[in-house]
Amino acid sequence: MNCTCCKYNKDAYLKQTTIDTINEQLQEKNIPRKVDKYWVCQKRKGAFPKVLEQTLSDRNKYLILLKEEKEKSDCDSKLIEEYQTHQIGAKLFANAGFGLFNNEYFEFSNYQVAECITAEGRRIHKQMELLAQNKPFNFKVIFGFTDSTFFNAGADITKVRDFIQVCKDKLGVIVEIKSVFINSIFYSKKNRYVAWTGNEKDEPIIKGLDGLSDSNPLWVRKWFKKIVIEIVKHPETRFDVIPEMIKEAFDELDSGPINRAEELKFTQRLKLHLYEYKGHPRIVELANLLDKDKGDLVHWYETFTEVYVKSKQCWKRKKGYSVKPENLNLDEYKNLLLNKLTDSLEIGGFNMDDLRRNVSHVETIPINKFGGLSIEQ
Ligand SMILES: [Zn+2]
Repeated sequence: MNCTCCKYNKDAYLKQTTIDTINEQLQEKNIPRKVDKYWVCQKRKGAFPKVLEQTLSDRNKYLILLKEEKEKSDCDSKLIEEYQTHQIGAKLFANAGFGLFNNEYFEFSNYQVAECITAEGRRIHKQMELLAQNKPFNFKVIFGFTDSTFFNAGADITKVRDFIQVCKDKLGVIVEIKSVFINSIFYSKKNRYVAWTGNEKDEPIIKGLDGLSDSNPLWVRKWFKKIVIEIVKHPETRFDVIPEMIKEAFDELDSGPINRAEELKFTQRLKLHLYEYKGHPRIVELANLLDKDKGDLVHWYETFTEVYVKSKQCWKRKKGYSVKPENLNLDEYKNLLLNKLTDSLEIGGFNMDDLRRNVSHVETIPINKFGGLSIEQ
């Protein structure tokens, strides 16, 4: 890039739209620099583009082999795995290779190359979206990020194939159809979605949803997954089925055959030394109780503790936590599940207030040995 031999060759210059995009990026990052022009050598090819050409043509070869093998009636699963490994390896190599130029530890890192790559990517992305939105395609853009864009293209698969051809002819880029979904939920935060291909053999894809994160107890993750999968697979019956599923989840929690010690356990890994935790008395107390420190996992359960109120001469239940699964505060778990589901259910057209009323039944408070029990929230 920016060689002496092509400095005055207009054909070597980068497109003005790419230069504009680079300057936009610089502005976004508050970097006080402006790019006037960049050019790419037309006489010699760089080492990375050469390797990339080979790698991508290899990938193409394996993609074709993969497709052929999959179409055979007696396909060989070992061969499929082999071809798949080759093609995905080539793809990862290509993607990583682009990122490398922005890595300070890479011997040949170069911010100019890096910013051109990012800007070219953005430019192509924008142009693809424009092509898709306008005639004759009129696809609706759902969202796009670095290397993919989601379109609502209706049911017309030939139109999608035409679009891919136009991308190749007009933009010089190879676009692949990765998946076709019949139902999906897209969240306002980008790159989070649940989507299903409509094929019973395929599990729905659940991407980036916080309800499945490790910090939630197993019971929450299990029911969260079941419920979003049900919504995306059978949206037509959701208003009848989903409230029933939530009730079923609550019943399981109240009196079902679950391993509470395992399924209701919260865990958190200690990222800091204990003395570094400020304003997190719970974490510090748990770590001390369990004799843990930086790098270890602490766990707890949401529970009730009984406190004696002298002035009223009675025992009260207070929300608390414990490292043992005793006196569990089941409402806390139910609320957590509903909270994690809120986004998905609201997008699905549910009114959360109605739903909460529908699924919650009056809790009978067990009178225990202390007598005169009341709940304090
Ligand atoms: Zn040159």
